[in-house]
Amino acid sequence: MGSPTFLDGDVRALAGVAGQAADALARLGITTVRDLLEHYPHQGRYRDVGAFVPAGVAPVGEAVTLVGHIRGWNVIRPRGKRLTIAKARFADDDGTMVEVAFFNQPWRPGRHPAGSRVAVSGTLEQFRDRLQLSNPRLTEVEGAHGDGHADLLEDVDRVVPTYPATERLPSARIGALIAGVLQDLPSLVDHLPAELRERHGLVDLDTALRRIHRPADLDDVEPARQRLVYDELLCLQIGLQQRRQRLESEAAGLLHPSAAAGLATRFLASLPFEPTAAQQDAVAGIAGDLESAKPMHRLLQGDVGSGKTLVAAWAMLTALDNGRQAVLMAPTEVLSEQHHRTFQRLFAPMGVNVLDGPRVELLTGSMPTNRRRGVLAELAAGDIGLLIGTHAVLEEVVRFSNLGVVVVDEQHRFGVEHRARLRDKRYDGNAPDVLVMTATPIPRSLALTVYGDLDVTVLDELPPGRQEIATRVIESGSRRRERLYEFVRERVALGERAYVVCPLVEDSEALQAKSAESMHAHLSTEVFPDLSIGLVHGRLPAQDKDAAMEAFRAGEVQVLVATTVIEVGVDVPEATIMIIEDAERFGMSQLHQLRGRVGRGSARSYCVLFTGDPDDNARLEALASTTDGFKLAEVDLEVRGEGSLFDTRQSGLPDLRLASLVRDAAVVSATRDDARRLVARDPELESHPLLRGEVARRYGEERLEALRTG
Ligand code: ADP
Ligand code: MG
Repeated sequence: MGSPTFLDGDVRALAGVAGQAADALARLGITTVRDLLEHYPHQGRYRDVGAFVPAGVAPVGEAVTLVGHIRGWNVIRPRGKRLTIAKARFADDDGTMVEVAFFNQPWRPGRHPAGSRVAVSGTLEQFRDRLQLSNPRLTEVEGAHGDGHADLLEDVDRVVPTYPATERLPSARIGALIAGVLQDLPSLVDHLPAELRERHGLVDLDTALRRIHRPADLDDVEPARQRLVYDELLCLQIGLQQRRQRLESEAAGLLHPSAAAGLATRFLASLPFEPTAAQQDAVAGIAGDLESAKPMHRLLQGDVGSGKTLVAAWAMLTALDNGRQAVLMAPTEVLSEQHHRTFQRLFAPMGVNVLDGPRVELLTGSMPTNRRRGVLAELAAGDIGLLIGTHAVLEEVVRFSNLGVVVVDEQHRFGVEHRARLRDKRYDGNAPDVLVMTATPIPRSLALTVYGDLDVTVLDELPPGRQEIATRVIESGSRRRERLYEFVRERVALGERAYVVCPLVEDSEALQAKSAESMHAHLSTEVFPDLSIGLVHGRLPAQDKDAAMEAFRAGEVQVLVATTVIEVGVDVPEATIMIIEDAERFGMSQLHQLRGRVGRGSARSYCVLFTGDPDDNARLEALASTTDGFKLAEVDLEVRGEGSLFDTRQSGLPDLRLASLVRDAAVVSATRDDARRLVARDPELESHPLLRGEVARRYGEERLEALRTG
């Protein structure tokens, strides 16, 4: 937007903004004039207050705006009720009388005494032969009797937007401030190249900004919004593309060509099963990245159980084949240990920790100091080839001798700062190849933005022979609960195991939901006194958590009561029953992940969703009817919005003011294409200085810094 000095000026310099109003604006994040103009109305919440019409011919039952004078007031206080009705006798400019009533606004007569010239907007009603308006919108207007109405359009908007507001600073007040700024604002110079504007049929910037705030007509709003959404997403995508170009030109990568007789190749040949076609494609794609001199930045996205671990193991062995080290970072200790075990099992045919086999070690925060020191020393000396661990692997003291490949499992579980620290683990000043993995199914438009600088591979196939998991929704208080417990007892007798997941750790007065602690007490004393019932939740010390998981894995514990700590990745093939209490409290993707904890062996598996909220059944029934994570994510998106899929703050993505990555998915794709073309031709946008300025202002390098993944 042009006129930088005025727009970047303090909002407190505006007439009528001081003290409380300034505080209230600050609370809405508005400190400059530009912030105010970028405080957009809620989408779809514009009210058409009706055409200006003489009351005598106004359509009864419709929204109208009448202009005239207040002739006098009556204030009525009906006995026995806490109610005041202030009734104005209003005459429009043709002399037609209308009764205008305000409820519980006793100050009205003082504010607009007889003789005030006003416009009133509302739904016109007729009672016997009297015309009435109740609780209308009232605006004082200038001008003498009989001026005509054309000039009034300046004062009274026919279409009224609703702004995100606070009690102290209501929407109407914000609207008035913005209208004042727009009136004084010189016409804005458009930063968007005319070619793009024409290609997408977009209105110009000045028009868009004025119309989104003060549309003359409801039909004005959408084109204005389209233009501003396009701007926002184009600037973001240009920022992302520029950053990617800069990273690639700065950072030299490492060469990791595949060796014909290397560990990685032997590993694939030694597997007890055939990799799926999707796994083979992923391996081929990653092989291309690894052997190129550009640092790899790839996202491997695959539903629960699609077999991402195998692909990661292969990539890490390729580093080893090239004389380098590799690290796998997992979000929890339980998962790190599980990966460590899995790798030892997968690599067994090649001999683990023997002379010519891979050397795999674990590093977590809770390791005894002595062992930890030993691992660190061997790592720095290059004696350990593959390291698996929690974010403990990111600490300063963890020095690799020659790190080549980094794998991040369940990357959405890591914060921005974790990912930023990975890039400091360099070898010879070169960036390692980075593979991030996630089981969170996110739609393409989100992936393109949240992971704007990553290439994306999707494992869209499950290994053969997986059993469908029978899923049932049951009301919490149902008698079927007892039958279910009998069923659990039968399965346990056959060597199988069950999870019971609760939304809370301990009972809470505020939340009416089942807690893991009370469920554990109930199950172990009243329902299954003869079985061994475990308990695991996030507040337990790491050792207790591990001990509980280990006992469950080993079969010493047959029923494990847990919170969502078991949500990601935990792999116990004998677990066949997943019971989720108060299922309505979880997101669909979360429920899907939890369900993915069973059905990992060859026995038939079951998932029971207990719900205390029968109204939520549509969502839970959808879960019962499909195991396709992507389909479920879409349902979740419709019901709960973008926040259900990923945490925007954790993603490092700057806030979008107007655009929605989901609703505006088509614009996301279009702007990505436009941005790629612009940046490929002219990386620093030298031929588009205005656009360059706009991109720098909105999504300059430092604002995208947090997105760095390697
Ligand atoms: P996720 O993608 O959820 O991390 P895992 O890598 O844990 O999935 O794999 C889930 C299970 O499937 C593991 O027990 C693994 O050994 C097995 N698996 C992986 N790939 C195949 C395959 N191609 N054929 C058969 N089983 C496989
Ligand atoms: Mg996994």
